[in-house]
Amino acid sequence: MTRRSFVLIALVALVVSAGGLSVGAAPQAKTGAPLPNVVVLATGGTIAGAAATDVQAGYTSGQVGVEQLLAAVPQAKKLAVLRGEQISNIGSQDMNDEVWLKLARRINELVAMPDVAGIVITHGTDTIEETAYFLNLVVKSKKPVVLTAAMRPSTALSADGPLNFYNAVAVAANKDAAGRGVLIVVNDWIHGASSLTKTSTTAVQTFLSPVWGLIGTVAYGEAEFYRGPVGRNTADSEFSLDGVTALPRVDIIMAHENMDGALIDAAVAAGAKGLVIAGVGNGNMTEAAVKSLAAQAKKGIVCVRSTRVTTGRVGRNVELDDDKLGFVASLGLNPQKSRVLLRLALLKKRDVKDIQRIFDEY
Ligand code: ASP
Repeated sequence: MTRRSFVLIALVALVVSAGGLSVGAAPQAKTGAPLPNVVVLATGGTIAGAAATDVQAGYTSGQVGVEQLLAAVPQAKKLAVLRGEQISNIGSQDMNDEVWLKLARRINELVAMPDVAGIVITHGTDTIEETAYFLNLVVKSKKPVVLTAAMRPSTALSADGPLNFYNAVAVAANKDAAGRGVLIVVNDWIHGASSLTKTSTTAVQTFLSPVWGLIGTVAYGEAEFYRGPVGRNTADSEFSLDGVTALPRVDIIMAHENMDGALIDAAVAAGAKGLVIAGVGNGNMTEAAVKSLAAQAKKGIVCVRSTRVTTGRVGRNVELDDDKLGFVASLGLNPQKSRVLLRLALLKKRDVKDIQRIFDEY
């Protein structure tokens, strides 16, 4: 064997062992079909976080770039042809409209490309439910768009990010994931964007889908789907970001014992065009708060009653007469998702009947 051919063979062996690729042929799935293209959009979060040691609580989100994330899970290259883009690298407590608009626009460009099969977005757990629900309303495609996250930083003992990422790629590459709205894959479970909520500050099993349940499960890349999406979404949504440079301000105010109307009025004075009350029980609040809220509703501020309770719906005209007071009931949406929907709704509508129709449908 000549020295040149030895070097060539060694190089080919290296490529095959690194990524399971064969020279000259497209990478293939177990079935022999070419692997689908999945684009990974990284935004930061604990999945990209790092700590000084592997057994400490303190760490910093958004330290690891998308190329490092991809390199950490080489097994995912057997599921899809992956390429990554860095959209931001922030803790999701700092998620903001600028990143949302950039992310949503980039997803819409990518899903319009015929050779892109699906999208994975890596994100922090704190606000993943809001980003997922926002994308569920503004992405214009039925292709799988899957968010994933981690509760433990990438440097931690027993980090949950790598398997979450692997499972997210598997779901994004899975044709059966299409048409189920934007999905979130964490800890072996597949959640829908309207139902998922974070329920524990630190537990790995923090995410639940109260009321509607799981969309499916995924174990080491093998997905099983149980149901479709709840509410209008993605390609069937009436919302669009065309020409949108800013979203209206909507504030969330939590109800509590002895609540008065001071924060309601302050939010409007600060520029809120809509308010969401994280009410007690079935979207309730003190008489004083009802009075202030109804006065703002009369002035054209759209006021939505949601609940600070983790599970259950907020019904219209149950203990409060929404028709008379001019309020909107959030139905199945928690306060943070009600805020997302209301911000998009306010781009086009101000009438309470129109907005209640939107809460009924989404
Ligand atoms: N603060 C982090 C974030 O949301 C928490 C996490 O990702 O788990 O970015």
